[in-house]
Amino acid sequence: AALQDLNQPKSEVELPAGLLSVPLMKHQKIALAWMFQKETRSSPCLGGILADDQGLGKTVSTIALILKQMHEAKLKSQNISNQEAEALDLDADDESEIANQKPESSASNGNGVSVNSGRKKAKEEEASTSTQKFNRKRPAAGTLIVCPASVVRQWARELDEKVTDEAKLSVLIYHGGNRTKDPNELAKYDVVMTTYAIVSNEVPKQPLVDDDENDEKSGERYGLSSGFSTSKKRKIEMGATKKIKKRGKKNADDSSSGPDSGTLAKVGWFRVVLDEAQTIKNHRTQVARACCGLRAKMRWCLSGTPMQNTIDDLYSYFRFLKYDPYAVYKSFCHTIKGPITRNSLHGYKKLQAVLRAIMLRRTKGTLLDGQPIINLPPKTINLSKVDFSEEERSFYRKLETDSQSQFKKYAAAGTLNQNYANILLMLLRLRQACDHPELVKRYSSDSVGKESEEAAKRLPREARVNLLNRLESSPICCECKDPPEDPVITLCGHIFCYQCVSEFINGDENMCPVPRCREELAHDVVFSESTLRSCVADDLGGSSSHDKGLDKAFFQNDEFSSSKIKAVIDILRSLSNRSNPNSAQHDQMPSSSMPYDIDDNDVTIVEQMSLRSTPSNRGSIKTIIFSQWTGMLDLLELSLNENTIEFRRLDGTMSLNARDRAVKEFNNDPDVKVMIMSLKAGNLGLNMVAACHVILLDLWWNPTTEDQAIDRAHRIGQTRPVTVTRMTIKDTVEDRILALQEKKRIMVASAFGEDHGGSSATRLTVDDLKYLFQV
Ligand SMILES: [Zn+2]
Ligand SMILES: [Zn+2]
Repeated sequence: AALQDLNQPKSEVELPAGLLSVPLMKHQKIALAWMFQKETRSSPCLGGILADDQGLGKTVSTIALILKQMHEAKLKSQNISNQEAEALDLDADDESEIANQKPESSASNGNGVSVNSGRKKAKEEEASTSTQKFNRKRPAAGTLIVCPASVVRQWARELDEKVTDEAKLSVLIYHGGNRTKDPNELAKYDVVMTTYAIVSNEVPKQPLVDDDENDEKSGERYGLSSGFSTSKKRKIEMGATKKIKKRGKKNADDSSSGPDSGTLAKVGWFRVVLDEAQTIKNHRTQVARACCGLRAKMRWCLSGTPMQNTIDDLYSYFRFLKYDPYAVYKSFCHTIKGPITRNSLHGYKKLQAVLRAIMLRRTKGTLLDGQPIINLPPKTINLSKVDFSEEERSFYRKLETDSQSQFKKYAAAGTLNQNYANILLMLLRLRQACDHPELVKRYSSDSVGKESEEAAKRLPREARVNLLNRLESSPICCECKDPPEDPVITLCGHIFCYQCVSEFINGDENMCPVPRCREELAHDVVFSESTLRSCVADDLGGSSSHDKGLDKAFFQNDEFSSSKIKAVIDILRSLSNRSNPNSAQHDQMPSSSMPYDIDDNDVTIVEQMSLRSTPSNRGSIKTIIFSQWTGMLDLLELSLNENTIEFRRLDGTMSLNARDRAVKEFNNDPDVKVMIMSLKAGNLGLNMVAACHVILLDLWWNPTTEDQAIDRAHRIGQTRPVTVTRMTIKDTVEDRILALQEKKRIMVASAFGEDHGGSSATRLTVDDLKYLFQV
């Protein structure tokens, strides 16, 4: 509530024509005016927090800011003398150390990138006199954008697509082992993109804010005694050092203890932008302290969810922004946190005033002149009720009867609670049977790689046996809170779906997401059951027979496709008949120009196959198909191949490069009509507005996860009405999950998902379980 109701600024600013290739929407012009003003008036800090909701275009507003500032600087340097341009001296917080060493001329940069930077030209002229004198100082660079690894390429793409050829920015993706070690190279570019992990590795950490009262607090939060929390912290830091050493080979000038470790720290940035800035919300983490160590004149935080848990989250942004006096922890506590903890109205008023000075936040519900700020095309949600074939029905009945009787046994013995995980597993099997019977009996594919197998062999025998025992005791995934698909256990003893943990290994944090754990994660500390089992079997000298006597496939032929998959294929066929292959593929009209004025969720329940057609002659209809199980995606692939429907795939086990390629091809290649995608993969900002049809193959407990999935397509840039089809099977557990979702949307959500805070998650009640099993 503290973040709401800030008075909205209204003044807009236009970007000079010919810089952006897309028109700015009204609220983005307001953001531009506001951001530009924050950078030119020096109070109270240079920069701020752009906290617009996901999907309102924080990226494009930021790109507009970069262009606008460069354009103004160019005008200035053309009109006025160099002395005037010098007023744009870099890095007010660090003047003594930064000099304007001349960056190598951008013309020498072979890729034909043109640098239209007035700022740089002014610098270069000015620098010609002072190069010698300041040679050992930091070169002056442009804008550094720090973001999660999963969106680096999306940013780069937008920087490319949203800027006209005339105004093209030179962009460097500073990522990967071969990245440059030359600070002068970084200084050549208008924009440098990098990840939080690299900042963490290369930039000297600012010290922890020291106050004892605070250490107690953090101990409390992790449920540890304060003494223990200190040692824990030390352990984490040791882990991080170890990691840096490991990478030291690749990174020649890595000296994490030195004042200037990596290349990023050796330049003075004109502007640093933290995207998904909630990454630094805990000011005690390495990543937050490293970000604060970046030298910059202008500082920005972009985040759709700036405050997630505590008032302390805000402190980290204030520190990064150097927003005085609140950047000093003592005065933050004194003026803001203290009063709010004592729950005084005055405290909240104060916080609002402090935020209003540096933060702009609009939600999708914000009105501008009485109008909603975005006017998306309508979204229609259809519930498609498919029927089982006879053989599927009998398979399902058997499974259902078995689990009902098991459930009754637990109930009679009064052990429902003790068997909660088993019950969830039975529910999982029923849910999977609705998708495809093969899923239920599918031998979990062993996806962990060689690194894991070799690491497992190095473990002490006892550790292997322990891990194996734990993994076999009907676990629940620590991330999605469902029985795990392709279960794996980490060295720290936490169990996940392979896909769920891969998100953390591929991502930036490389830390176990369990709040009290935070151990370092990599491929060599994640083990599957079969890896462990074969090692244990080797120990005993026995043959590694990890064939648990699966009963032979119920459906003998491989071509069997389930009713749901058949229904999907039918839909895809009818869509491709309807679409017009000759019309333009890429349509970049902003949605604000669309005449839609219809309310959001127009929910219709239709019988199977009677999809309401939306007359569209604007290119082929592309479809995103979601399932929560990678196994279901595998099965769907078979049918798509058989029907020669071209598709791409995106799931949590894929590398970020592979994901990026898949998204790009889906969006741009007219022949690729379908994206099959895991509901659990990369929810951050992926833009797939090329699709105007979304199919959800199965129901997820937490409806907001479904909403986020739908928002891949239903977002700014979407010009066509979006149709969503939720597939369910009649007279199954899915009906009951649906009913539960309707009746207790909130309860179910908190029971299963969203609970990344890790506090005791509410469970399904006994009544809910009875209802789900129809007992
Ligand atoms: Zn999981
Ligand atoms: Zn862990």
